[in-house]
Amino acid sequence: MEQTVQSTRSLAGITPAATSSFAAFNLAEPLLRGVAAAGYSQPTEVQARALPLGLQGRDIMCSAQTGTGKTAAFALPALQRLLIPSKGAGRGPRVLVLTPTRELAMQVESVFHDLGKFAKLKIGLVVGGVSYQPQERLLKGAVDVLVATPGRLIDHLEHKLVDFARVELLVLDEADRMLDMGFIQPVRKIVAATPASRQTLLFSATLEGGVLGFAKQFLRDPVTIQLTSAKKRHESIAQRVHPVGGSDHKQALLAHLLSDPAVTQAIIFTTTKRGADKLAKRLTALGHPSAALHGNMRQSARTKTVDLLRHGKLRLLVATDVAARGIDLEGVSHIINYELPTVAEDYIHRIGRTGRNGATGTAISLIGPDDRTRLASIERLIGRRLEQQIIPVMVPQHSASAGGSTAPGGSGRSGRPHSQGGGRSFSGAAPSGRAPQAAAAPRRSPGARARQSASTSGGGWR
Ligand code: AMP
Repeated sequence: MEQTVQSTRSLAGITPAATSSFAAFNLAEPLLRGVAAAGYSQPTEVQARALPLGLQGRDIMCSAQTGTGKTAAFALPALQRLLIPSKGAGRGPRVLVLTPTRELAMQVESVFHDLGKFAKLKIGLVVGGVSYQPQERLLKGAVDVLVATPGRLIDHLEHKLVDFARVELLVLDEADRMLDMGFIQPVRKIVAATPASRQTLLFSATLEGGVLGFAKQFLRDPVTIQLTSAKKRHESIAQRVHPVGGSDHKQALLAHLLSDPAVTQAIIFTTTKRGADKLAKRLTALGHPSAALHGNMRQSARTKTVDLLRHGKLRLLVATDVAARGIDLEGVSHIINYELPTVAEDYIHRIGRTGRNGATGTAISLIGPDDRTRLASIERLIGRRLEQQIIPVMVPQHSASAGGSTAPGGSGRSGRPHSQGGGRSFSGAAPSGRAPQAAAAPRRSPGARARQSASTSGGGWR
């Protein structure tokens, strides 16, 4: 075992670009078996860059999201450490991973289980929304890895049920999200309870603003790893916006989009928990069985819903941003922003639930006149304007007149959608002289209609 660690120290010479196999990292044999059993044949970019440094014991701050393989980038150095018996006294965790959401914590725990399955380690999970007793029992015994959300962990810490004296490696996963969720104080307290000699790995979607302050407080001489920028990511996802009028029109358009068989599985995002519940019920009533996912649900119900989605037993999920991060799902064909997120960054996280692991995906945002500012922020962030498509048959009555005369933007008589709508509110592309229909039942296949619909780059109400 000692030999393994000796050899990991010599990894400094490895250049990430040249690292095409996990064997090059000199991972211990049980871990290489775990990697192979997990089906990883080649390291991802974040793994190639972070593993040599993590295995050397360096502090790292890394801009990487779920979907990049970042979990293994911190789990493997953690597991490699654990193969050497602890010198520290006590039974507390030697590796502590903090994540912002329960779903992410569960996912991280399962990666530790998968990669460490030949290493005989005790891996524990501490999250909110479930009963305290099993966690208390877990924390009384010896634990190697503890994956936790800060809120529940701080409860245990304050009741002196957990001892961090043995922590050798601390991971702050999705640090920006932890900040956004107001976890700064619990995280500070938890970190303060761990030894200063620990190694710290911070992963975050962005390395800007508050996260830098976080890093300064908690990391020692960190190496920064910047993956491809947010603007360049998501090339596998077709993104577009559909202008909408009022809420009836929005619901009708959504139901219409969902009747496209190409939507094999979709996550529909709302901004509020109540909104998610209401919309899931409404869609179900409209013949599109849906389930909701949000932070007010009991954890068991959240887990069950995610499992249904993961196993293809649920086609439509209406969710708040609790589902925007962390959750790694393979089969999601479409992301629909029924409501745009209030924070532009969340747009990137939301759409990242599709187009994963080499698949392609589609992200559609339904945009009303009041969404202009939010849309502009998103477009600034991703560095381009989103393609705007108008589905003619779905144009609401009131919107058709809002744009000006008969068909805003010019050639209303053509009967065809056009690319430069000029109205302030949703500038419809309704064929001239025909009453536009807001909630008409689709007469052609939605795909065909979408193809026929206007594809604009700067029209509508922008
Ligand atoms: P993560 O970003 O850690 O959530 O990982 C996203 C997905 O990529 C998960 O389903 C992992 O199992 C998978 N994954 C991670 N690393 C690799 C790899 N080197 N090769 C293939 N799949 C991987």
